[in-house]
Amino acid sequence: ASAGNETYLEGLNPEQREAVLTTEGPLLVLAGAGTGKTRVLTTRLAHIIGTRLAWPSQTLTVTFTNKAAREMRERALSMLGEAGEGLRWLGTFHSISAQILRKHAELAGLKSTFTILDTDDQVRLCKQIILAENIDPKRWTPRFLASLIDGWKNRALTPGKVPPEEAHQFADGKGITCYQIYQNRLKVLNACDFGDLLIHNITIFQNNPDLLKEYHDKFRYILVDEYQDTNVAQYLWLRLLAQGSQNICCVGDDDQSIYGWRGAEVDNILRFEKDFPGAKVIRLEKNYRSTKHILAAASAVIANNKGRLGKTLYVGDDNAIDEIDAAKVKVRGLWDGEAESRLIADDIESWVSKGGKHDDCAVLVRASWQMRAFEERFIMLGIPYRVIGGPRFFERAEIRDALAYLRLVRSPDDDLAFERVVNQPKRGVGNTSLIKLQSYARQDGRSLFTLTPMVLQTDEIKGGAKRGLTQFIDHVNLWRDKLANGMPHTELAETILEESGYTDMLQKDRSPQAQTRLDNLKELVRAMGEFDSLAGFLEHIELVMDTSAGGAGEDQVQILTLHAAKGLEWPVVFLPGWEEEVFPSKRSMDESGLKGLEEERRLAYVGITRARQQAYISFVANRQIYGRWQSVLPSRFVDELPHDHVEAVSETGYSGMPGGDTGFTGSVEDLGERSNYKSPGWKRLKENAGRFDTRPPKDATNLSATSGGPETFRKGQRIF
Ligand code: ATP
Ligand code: MG
Repeated sequence: ASAGNETYLEGLNPEQREAVLTTEGPLLVLAGAGTGKTRVLTTRLAHIIGTRLAWPSQTLTVTFTNKAAREMRERALSMLGEAGEGLRWLGTFHSISAQILRKHAELAGLKSTFTILDTDDQVRLCKQIILAENIDPKRWTPRFLASLIDGWKNRALTPGKVPPEEAHQFADGKGITCYQIYQNRLKVLNACDFGDLLIHNITIFQNNPDLLKEYHDKFRYILVDEYQDTNVAQYLWLRLLAQGSQNICCVGDDDQSIYGWRGAEVDNILRFEKDFPGAKVIRLEKNYRSTKHILAAASAVIANNKGRLGKTLYVGDDNAIDEIDAAKVKVRGLWDGEAESRLIADDIESWVSKGGKHDDCAVLVRASWQMRAFEERFIMLGIPYRVIGGPRFFERAEIRDALAYLRLVRSPDDDLAFERVVNQPKRGVGNTSLIKLQSYARQDGRSLFTLTPMVLQTDEIKGGAKRGLTQFIDHVNLWRDKLANGMPHTELAETILEESGYTDMLQKDRSPQAQTRLDNLKELVRAMGEFDSLAGFLEHIELVMDTSAGGAGEDQVQILTLHAAKGLEWPVVFLPGWEEEVFPSKRSMDESGLKGLEEERRLAYVGITRARQQAYISFVANRQIYGRWQSVLPSRFVDELPHDHVEAVSETGYSGMPGGDTGFTGSVEDLGERSNYKSPGWKRLKENAGRFDTRPPKDATNLSATSGGPETFRKGQRIF
């Protein structure tokens, strides 16, 4: 783009434009959600490259997630076309620091082929160290050590720099020693963990001024999104790199700082002007994303936090939605999680039936366990969806394994299923045996399962592999007989998981992931119960997996955690599970008290401000927690919502139960009159919550049949 082709500037407001054009010197853009910070950053990148201030390879752009990086790259390239080729240094802190470390690994005592450990490996390594040091792993768990080390790395503390008084946090003063051993082990393994990527970068830069100078010359412009969530290590890394050109632009919002638990420091924002003397600060105040109701709801909630930097936010009159038609934020109380997922699925279907796309809708949860209910409901109804930041339920390894067993039992010719589980759990059937079987199968034109017994009669496969295969074939035949003799398919699934040794394998694996996998398998069996037969269930799964397994461009509802939703936006956003101890989460409050609560509230602010046209907040009266039913209270954040912008709705459609309320439909003002809703203090929620429709569903028998039902529940009884 030449000077005559700067159309990308036209759509910007004066402050945004100033932020794009102030290319030289340090710049901080401090502004609330939806004010165009990310858009400014992208446009700025395009402007710098387009006006030849720097080649694409001379810019460094850091975003928080890979998804955000992808989107920014796409948008910048759409403005730049070919001029944008070679935009190599646009990514997350992790991806960029890994690229740099690969080039100079030897300066950190590593080979350039180093591996990056995932959390599993990290915990395993910690366990080895704990055992070797004769520390009791029950009292001082590997996970805890791993999180301590992560915490130190977030603060850029190498073993030598950890304050000695922090040593006693672990195993009576052995914390730092363990950390040192951990680092030594990593060197021997030619490996590093995620935290190391930045730490090694920092050490290399600090020890090699000439090399740092090269990077100063290289990165002429540095751009950082979501600056409020940088931790100390990231901050130091940025500061080192920016010392050269001083051309660093950071954009952020203190109200959206949600990674404190991972070491992020909002103070980095406050420090910016000190660290970069002469820094310019630009504030953006016009929100382009959301309706006035959504923005008002978010602002009212966040106003309960102390110690904010304070920002003005107003809604532009040229926002996409006609403000007169704008819908209020809907708040809904429901009986249980199933009713909640059912209602949300219905809403999505009705949105789509009115011409909307699935893609327009997102379900944002506080914790990943909440996802399953929605996934199941969506799968049941054939609503296409994808989970961002993790595998979909039916694509998880343990679920695929279980499904493969079931498929093989139903159809012996399913070679893919055979290959997947013949040695899962391990039965001594290695690759060599499998390759032999496969080549016979090819010659013979028969399936692996039908052919194996014949091969076993020869001497082609011997020893452990032979025993393992024989046992496997026998088992599958046995299960098939059971199915033929009328064993219910859910029971069959349980039997298979037991008898195959699959459950046992997971029970022996004491990693935290193993428990999740066992839970998922239980959930799978529960989901099977919704179908009459194994065939019916498998057919359904095949259809669902087939139609919605597609790529990122597909039209799918998105399910993700609030943390992963940062920076993103959708026309319709569902915020389920607004209950005390779920959101705000019990853990965050137990661990960090008021600080934890304020971070949860920022998370609520992030959640609401993802919505462009419509936000649906919901809470339930009963949750199954660790298999037991418990009554739960609505989140205190529900009480913080502003009455004028919120509509309390009861649209569950259940008819009144004997002795129950007839339900309530109306605005929060009405609600206020009836139940003192406006009075301060979340304790009142107990009364208020009863005003929402939390009565048991009409088909409550179904509820108790599938899941035992809440112990305290009697038909028609009010919960609060
Ligand atoms: P968050 O704090 O949530 O990350 P943000 O400040 O980064 O938000 P953006 O995502 O950049 O905000 O912008 C929000 C929405 O407003 C986007 O859809 C963006 O395209 C739109 N937008 C931003 N600036 C303008 C503008 N000047 N004119 C029209 N639309 C705009
Ligand atoms: Mg943004």
